[in-house]
Parts: sequence; C-alpha cells; structure tokens
Amino acid sequence: MGLKIYVDGKFVPEEDAKVSVFDHGFLYGDGVFEGIRAYHNSVFKLNEHIDRLYDSAHAINMQIPLTKAEMTEVVLETCRQNDLQDCYIRAVVSRGKGDLGMDPRKCPVPTVVCIASSISLYPDEMYETGLEVITVPTRRNGPEGVNPRIKSLNYLNNIMAKIEANIAGVSEAILLNQEGYVAECTGDNIFMVKNGILKTPAVHNGLLEGVTRNEVIKLAKQMGIEVQETTFTRFDLFIADEVFLTGTAAELIPVTSIDARVIADGKPGPIFGKLATGFREVVKQPGSVIFKKKPKTSKKSKK
Ligand code: PMP
Repeated sequence: MGLKIYVDGKFVPEEDAKVSVFDHGFLYGDGVFEGIRAYHNSVFKLNEHIDRLYDSAHAINMQIPLTKAEMTEVVLETCRQNDLQDCYIRAVVSRGKGDLGMDPRKCPVPTVVCIASSISLYPDEMYETGLEVITVPTRRNGPEGVNPRIKSLNYLNNIMAKIEANIAGVSEAILLNQEGYVAECTGDNIFMVKNGILKTPAVHNGLLEGVTRNEVIKLAKQMGIEVQETTFTRFDLFIADEVFLTGTAAELIPVTSIDARVIADGKPGPIFGKLATGFREVVKQPGSVIFKKKPKTSKKSKK
C-alpha cells in the first residue's frame, strides 16, 4: 500500500509508523478518534469531526497538543501526502506514553496519528438488497459509564456486539440501551420510517451523535419529511415500513431483516431511496478542500 502516515508531527512510511507499547491508547484504550471521509477532493464535514474529536478529548480530560486549525491541516495534509481525493481518514489521539500504571498523569504528551486510506464495511450488493441484522445480548454502555457520545478508543462494547453478530452469521448488530430501548449499531446510527415519519433514537438513549445521522436529519427536514428524535423498541423496528443505518464509513445502507423478521416487503424503501440519493448529492458539495487549484498565471497579467 505504501501509505504515508502522520505520527506526532512527521509523515512516515506505514512500516515506520509506530507508537510505544507504553502508550496508554494501546495499554488501556485511553484516547479518542474520528473516522472522516473525503469525496472528490473535499473532506466532508471536517469541522464537525474536529469539534467532536475535541469534545471527546475534553470529556476524558485530555488536552490535544494541536489547535483545531492545526489538526484540520494535519487531516488535509495527510490526504495530500497520499495523493488521495476520495478516502477514509482516521485521526487518533491517545493519552500517550506512560508507565504500566493507568494514571494518565504519567503520560505527559498525547500521541497524534492520522491515516488516510480506504474502508469497506459491507459488501456492495447489500446497498441494493439490504442488510440482515440482529439485536444482540450485549447492551450499549450507559452514559453513567463511558458515555457513548465520547468517541473513545475503547470499542470493546461495540466489538462484543460485532462478535455476536458474526457468530449469528449476520452483517450487523443492534445494541439496546440499559433500559431495553434501541440505541445504535456497532459503528452506525439507526433510523426507521413509520407512516411517513422518520425516527431515530434521541442522543439521551446512549449513542454516538453521528455526523451522518445529523446530516440525514437535516436533509430529511429539507425534503419536508417529518423527523422525530425519540425512543423506540425492537417491536417498533419489527413493524417499521423502513429501517436503515448511517455512518461515515457505511454512508446510508438499508436493513431488510431484524431478528429474522422481514421489514415491510423486504426491500429498501422509498424514503431511504430519496435520502440516499440526496446524501450522494450533499457529499458532492465542496467542503474542506484537499488540493487547492493553483491560481492561473496568465501571460497578460505578468506584463
Ligand atoms: N455509532 C458509532 C458507535 C460509531 O462508531 C459511528 C461511526 N463513527 C457512528 C455511530 C456513526 O457516526 P458518524 O456518522 O459520525 O460516522
């Protein structure tokens, strides 16, 4: 692959991109990250991702050693260094190198890494046919512990759920919250449609406030679709007219079966179709541009 990876201020070949085994990101999952995406030479919703990264870091009492403007430039420069105009970007800030104890005060400088590459969560045909998913026994961790709104490096809760989906032979897992209401999936937010109303769990149900989720809500409102950020159960999903997932890596993907219950007629629905088409248009709009076009120097103006 030969990627160039940003590690603590330098771009290095991927085989040299290393962090210490004493880094508390490795030892304890102590850190935060973002998954970001670039489309057509432009990073989608970069400010929103940077804000969430800094909010997550603040919540775990960690000071990122770069300003937001510097971190923004790190993301853009990582794309440039790899000559990528369409890519998936991973920005990671860990607590940094400490000792074997967990005390973060022993980690004076957070480690900053940025990788620009690609990602594929689900097979292409599933965007047409829809995903088969299950609800899993592992519940989403509650806000009284590691709040799911923190995009932390500790994804074991999500990984446990993913393993349960893998064992069941399905593509994705729905996690319920501690009260048994629908929260989200392992790396995606969830939406349902009933009688023309688009519904998604409100953030107080314990979920990551997805950038894609927020964009889909905005898009739906612009299209005149009623949106409710609310609370619902598996039962509501079983009897929904449409269900779909959203995320930076997955984008918008339909769900056609949950716990062996076929959703409606088992085909992706019309509101999903409208939103997926609308989303593809939105990502074409210029965001944070990776490569600026060089200004044309006409011969006339030189004279
Ligand atoms: N929930 C979880 C647990 C996630 O990891 C992600 C992916 N970041 C999402 C939801 C979707 O968020 P976004 O749209 O910002 O990628």
